[in-house]
Amino acid sequence: MNSDLQIRHDWTIEEIEKIYNQPLLELVYRAATVHRHYHPANQVQVCTLLSIKTGGCPEDCAYCGQAARYNTGITVKPLMSAEQVVGIARRAKEAGSSRFCMAAAWREVRDNRDFDNVLEMVRGVNELGLEVCCTLGMLSQSQADRLQLAGLHAYNHNLDTSENHYDEIISTRTFDDRLTTLNRVRKAGISVCSGGIIGLGETHADRVNMLHTLATLSKHPESVPVNALARVRGTPLEELPKVDTWEMVRMIATARIIMPASMVRLSAGRSEMSTEEQSWCFMAGANSIFTSESDELLVTPNPRLDDDRKMFELLGLIPMSTDKHYA
Ligand code: SF4
Repeated sequence: MNSDLQIRHDWTIEEIEKIYNQPLLELVYRAATVHRHYHPANQVQVCTLLSIKTGGCPEDCAYCGQAARYNTGITVKPLMSAEQVVGIARRAKEAGSSRFCMAAAWREVRDNRDFDNVLEMVRGVNELGLEVCCTLGMLSQSQADRLQLAGLHAYNHNLDTSENHYDEIISTRTFDDRLTTLNRVRKAGISVCSGGIIGLGETHADRVNMLHTLATLSKHPESVPVNALARVRGTPLEELPKVDTWEMVRMIATARIIMPASMVRLSAGRSEMSTEEQSWCFMAGANSIFTSESDELLVTPNPRLDDDRKMFELLGLIPMSTDKHYA
C-alpha cells in the first residue's frame, strides 16, 4: 500500500517538514492522489458561516476585526433570535449548503439565556438536516455535553497558529486553553473542526508545528480550515503582506497528506484569489468552501454565491450532498 494512504498519528516534525518543503508540483500531485483515495475529487462541501453575535469581543486576537479593543469600525450586533437563524439556515440549504456554522464573538460560553438561545438554534438547524457547527469560544465540559444533546454536529475552535507563535497573536488565553476546549468537544462526542491562519507573521517552521499539533491528536480533526489572513483595518496585523496563494496551496496539500480523511476547508482569503488560484487549492486537496448570504465572511470580504456557482460549473465541481455524510 502507498504509505501516504495510511492514517497516522505519530508524525514527526521532520517528516511533516519534508512533505511541506517538497517541490510544489510534486507536493500537489501527492496530495491530489491522497485526496482521490479518501474523497470524491469532484465534490466540494459548501458551508454557510453566519455571525450570530458580532463584535465587542473582549479577547485580543491580533487578526480579528471583532475584538472590542481595536478600532475597526464594524457594527456590533447582539445575539440573533433562533427564528432568524433557522430562517437563514433554511435558505442556505436551498442554495446548496450542507453545513451551517454559527459564530459568536465570545471569549467563552456562559450558562445564561444566550446559551439557551444558541441551544435552540442548534436544535432548529439540526432539524433541517444540515450539519450544524458552532464556534462560540471556550467551553466547559457540561456546555459541550449540552451542545451535543441539542444535536450539535461539530464545534470549531482553531489553533490559529503554532504554540511558539501563539503569544505574538493572542495574550488573553493560552494555546493550552485551546487544546482543553478541543478535548472537551471530543469527549462530548462532537466532531472537531480545528485549523489555523497563515500570514500572521509566523515562520514556515511555525506552520509545520501547527500542522504537527493537529495531525498528532489522538483523532484527527474531522475538519481542518486553512485560512489566509484577511487584513482588517484597525487591527495590529493590518499592514502585514498579502498571503501568497502558493503558500496556501503548500499548506493545504500538506494538511491533506497528513490528515487524509479530514475535510480540508479553503476558508478566509478566497476573496483575494482568482478562480485559477482557487483551482490550485482544490487540486491540492481542499474540499470545502465557505459562503454567506452577504458577500462577507463574518466581517471580512468573501466571494459572492453566484461567482462560486460559476466557478463550480467551470471546474466540474458539485456541492457535496446535503445529506449528512458523517456518522
Ligand atoms: S477571533 Fe474570536 S475570540 Fe478572538 S477576538 Fe475575534 S471573536 Fe474574539
